[in-house]
Amino acid sequence: MERILTGDRPTGPLHLGHYVGSLRNRVKLQNEYDTFIIVADIQALTTHWENPELIRNNVREVTLDNLAAGLNPEKTSIFVQSMVPQIAELTVLFGLYTTVSRLKHNPTIKTEAKLYGFTDMTYGFLGYPVSQAADILFCRANLIPVGEDQLPHVEVTRFVARRFNELYGDVFPEPKALVSEISRLIGLDGNAKMSKSLGNAIYLKDDPKEIKKKVMSAVTDPARIHKTDPGHPDICTIFAYHKAFNKVEIPEIEDSCKKGTIGCVSCKKNLIKKLEEILSPMRERRAEFDKPGLIEDILIAGTDKAVEAGKETMALVREAMHTNYWKER
Ligand code: ATP
Ligand code: MG
Repeated sequence: MERILTGDRPTGPLHLGHYVGSLRNRVKLQNEYDTFIIVADIQALTTHWENPELIRNNVREVTLDNLAAGLNPEKTSIFVQSMVPQIAELTVLFGLYTTVSRLKHNPTIKTEAKLYGFTDMTYGFLGYPVSQAADILFCRANLIPVGEDQLPHVEVTRFVARRFNELYGDVFPEPKALVSEISRLIGLDGNAKMSKSLGNAIYLKDDPKEIKKKVMSAVTDPARIHKTDPGHPDICTIFAYHKAFNKVEIPEIEDSCKKGTIGCVSCKKNLIKKLEEILSPMRERRAEFDKPGLIEDILIAGTDKAVEAGKETMALVREAMHTNYWKER
């Protein structure tokens, strides 16, 4: 069985952007692939090193979001990055042959550095794509369902795997990104990316009242003042959400918006109904999993499986690099 590795930074609750960008594919593919989901606490600390408490609190939150979205812990291993020491080992090894200039040219790093105001980047932040290569390669994953912002990082991972194999011998597959149809969901404020760090998100755990409030106040086409004004769906946030969550009605909505025969209020109400169809079963599953000790048990079992996979990979790596000085004792 081929493997999937993907995951999230525990910096806050997951939102609809995560759902369309990666979660929806994770849930669908867990039956066909041996699936590992990483809760990337160390990667989160590369931007939030001053606030470890925030990351700690969100480990449970993000795990619960994944379970609520439909991941089955019997099939899928959800684990905590920092509890798998082989990932840290591989990060050091992959750093041996990955140059600084390759990392500096990464467009996602540049965007995020600006976002966080990092003028003098730390070694850990600049190098997080190398650490992410270790997140993916420790279990020799083949497929990575991710949003568009992750593509430059996947390229680093592919380089790391390819170069390792050239230098030391064939150990790693060259994994592929799986980008969903909606690879970047825009934010409620019209910002290019719905993001937990930008506060422009509809969270999977939001209740119906919050969802209604957020959708009703979302930015639409500013040229439409009256219901009968012709609209420009291409620049409308709500239309982008219909594309992601209500694909069947797209031609009809596009047509009536352009003609000015449908108002923004009823268009928004329609979207709220469609979102509820997705989010209300998530609320039910969330309630099932949100019990004392259960999340911890799921994470411990998932992390045990990850460590097992990490040990297998490290044995191959040591053999290839001739660092197997003695047998593991
Ligand atoms: P942070 O601001 O902490 O980086 P984030 O919202 O970017 O948070 P991540 O945990 O970094 O979330 O990303 C997890 C996964 O979700 C990645 O595969 C990422 O590409 C995807 N993703 C995040 N935001 C979106 C979005 N708005 N649209 C599509 N995919 C997204
Ligand atoms: Mg991110």
